Amino acid sequence: MTIYNFAAGPAMMPAPVIKQIQDELPSLHGSGMSILEVSHRGQDFEKIIEDAEADLRELMAIPDDYAVLFMQGGGTGQFAAAPMNLARQFKRIAVLDSGQWAARADAEARRLGFTSDVLASTKTDRYTTLPALPEPLPQDQYDYVHICVNNTIEGTMFRQLPATETTPLVGDMSSNILAQRYNVRDFGMIFAGAQKNLGPAGVTVVIVRRDLLGDAKHVPSAFDYQLFDAKHSLYNTPPVFAIYAVGLVLKWLKEQGGVDEMQRRNEAKSQLLYDYLDQSRLFFNPVKPADRSITNVPFMTGDADLDAAVVTAATAHGLLNLKGHRSVGGLRASLYNAMPLAGAEALVDFLNDFEKHH
Ligand code: PMP
Repeated sequence: MTIYNFAAGPAMMPAPVIKQIQDELPSLHGSGMSILEVSHRGQDFEKIIEDAEADLRELMAIPDDYAVLFMQGGGTGQFAAAPMNLARQFKRIAVLDSGQWAARADAEARRLGFTSDVLASTKTDRYTTLPALPEPLPQDQYDYVHICVNNTIEGTMFRQLPATETTPLVGDMSSNILAQRYNVRDFGMIFAGAQKNLGPAGVTVVIVRRDLLGDAKHVPSAFDYQLFDAKHSLYNTPPVFAIYAVGLVLKWLKEQGGVDEMQRRNEAKSQLLYDYLDQSRLFFNPVKPADRSITNVPFMTGDADLDAAVVTAATAHGLLNLKGHRSVGGLRASLYNAMPLAGAEALVDFLNDFEKHH
């Protein structure tokens, strides 16, 4: 039986990358040492992290005036690091509340003593649509506007970015980095935990325009963007294995045709599932079609017991981790870059069959 893992993160990784990790695990590049054992100051790892940065720059067309940092602490760490590093002038940020992860960013900024204004929220719509910025956005008030570019739990994504004019936009791309094309220049800063589209958990990618950085007082060294930029992410011991694995995923992505090809595939996979759901008499997706994510698709029957029965039956068919986030219920299929079209087809076939026999 072929297994497809629809988990939201940590998530499926490309099979050839897992195989390469397995092959190289006892001895990295013939060194007689495992990647789990090598020094982060050694030649082998230096090349790995340099390649990872160069490949990410190429794949996302990251301009030279943006720093690329490999940090720890996950997306949650960046909810704190972003205001600490970037909210220096007004100590005030703005948030578009598009879901639980955006709300977390807002809460974390407040927890640290910053002012955070929620400019719009779709909470009363149960986050089935995206919030829009009030127009015009008052300028020279906010150090940045935070958005969650793809809402992993609710299954929405910003196709069109809010126009923040001269106020920098900070984008949480944890669940759609490299899954679709965005223009890095539209953002002051982008961050993403690796564990969905980039590789295993443990490393967090930060892409930040250097002119936004400055003397960030009271920022812990482990979260200081300027310090990490100056030290090429080697200020302290980095997550060596996670960066190595991300490096392999980036090479795989390049071989597959890069971000545009990933976007084409992710659109095809998600469209297949949405088309099925929209005509189904048993299942539905609650999200406004224009705001639907191409990487995370929540769906349900409206009956929690039946949803649970679907998850159980799917698991028996090798379709794993389809249980929806505990706050939303129902089911959710995450269709990140490593999920092949065959996985989406197998899911639709299964759902169709379940519906027929129901
Ligand atoms: N932002 C988004 C969009 C997420 O999906 C997640 C995790 N699922 C996070 C932030 C939090 O990331 P972490 O668990 O790495 O702190």
